Amino acid sequence: MTEFDVVVIGAGAAGLFAAMRAGQRGRRVLLLDHADEAGKKILISGGGRCNFTNLGVVPERFLSANPHFARSALARYTQRDFIALVTKHRIAFHEKTLGQLFCDGSARQVVDMLLAECEAAGVDLRLRHRVTDITRGDRFTIATDHGAVTAASLVLATGGLSIPKMGATGFAHDVARRFGLPVVAPRPGLVPLTFDDAALDLMRPLAGVALPIVARCGRAAFPEAMLFTHRGLSGPSVLQISSYWRDGEAITLDLLPDRDATGLLLAAKRARPKAEARTVLADLLPQRLAQALAAAHLPPRIMGEIGDADLKRLGAMLKAWRIEPAGTEGYAKAEVTLGGVDTAALSSKTMAAKDIPGLFVIGEAVDVTGWLGGYNFQWAWSSGWAAGEAA
Ligand code: FAD
Repeated sequence: MTEFDVVVIGAGAAGLFAAMRAGQRGRRVLLLDHADEAGKKILISGGGRCNFTNLGVVPERFLSANPHFARSALARYTQRDFIALVTKHRIAFHEKTLGQLFCDGSARQVVDMLLAECEAAGVDLRLRHRVTDITRGDRFTIATDHGAVTAASLVLATGGLSIPKMGATGFAHDVARRFGLPVVAPRPGLVPLTFDDAALDLMRPLAGVALPIVARCGRAAFPEAMLFTHRGLSGPSVLQISSYWRDGEAITLDLLPDRDATGLLLAAKRARPKAEARTVLADLLPQRLAQALAAAHLPPRIMGEIGDADLKRLGAMLKAWRIEPAGTEGYAKAEVTLGGVDTAALSSKTMAAKDIPGLFVIGEAVDVTGWLGGYNFQWAWSSGWAAGEAA
């Protein structure tokens, strides 16, 4: 049976990074994946350009049952460290918006960089390997469909449940549970929201309409674009708020950020009393949305004939449209998985299981989930680095 110092299961963002770092430290590292290619999610990320980190990474932009957990790993391997690595590999990049850094060329460059670093660090990468059993005595024994290996350290880096058609599995959660580690119930995050038929009567005909809004849920607020879809709402502001939304809660949408909707409507009534309401609204909102809202919320009259109370009611609705999602589009469309291996069972410095010496969990498999915009890859790099330093 071949012996390794470290076996990493999952050659995604976090696993590649942990394997690289452990290899650089002189460890004999085996990196296993059941897929036929490493870093598949990196390849499809950011529309093929990989939003690999964010200039604004701070621990507050990550969700977890323990909001302080991510702090240590994020401080030990920062966005600046990853930018330095990308720069060393001469990968050109740009800031798109809100601190989000994308490759100028292709996400393939990031995967090639990680594979080159792993190769230089002597990592043994084996694809199309299915892990069939894991047992723990003095060392971990990892049985695969190509034979068994042993290692002093085992790093679980198999990600979350998002995009099952790409091979996502609950493997890390299942193994963690078997070793007695608690798992915070997983749920889809950064995912489009769906609505019941009553709300869809308004939304469905608007599919394709986008506008800047502020989406709110509890104390979270995201000023970004929203997109109407055939099943409800999407776009960055809605994806962001979906991670904070819980079943049965309402979300609130400000369709006219930074503007006094009621004041504008009352002023328009005085200035343009003969104008149709939908024409006035179309100066403020996309035309199709203006028409739909005028039809749904105002009497079919010219502005001068519409009562102030009706205009005030619509003004209030435009600033705080309160709607209750029926659900989400689920893991098939979710960019990430919220929840995962409970951070209470892990060291925030090393990502090692406190009660199982040698076992590490990193990346999306852990109950740490970032905002949209490069935060989740930064968590993969930072948590992978932390484990690679200690394994
Ligand atoms: P993954 O990257 O999912 O890697 C897990 C690996 O484990 C995979 O290689 C998988 O094949 C392997 N695996 C799974 N189960 C098993 C098993 N049983 N046995 C062996 N191997 C297994 N985040 C950003 O920060 N920026 C972006 O631009 C961005 N774009 C995204 C676009 C899409 C469409 C999606 C779905 C996600 C995007 N994300 C983005 C999120 C980001 O991809 C993930 O958060 C990140 O990949 C998590 O890294 P990971 O290594 O933990 O898991």
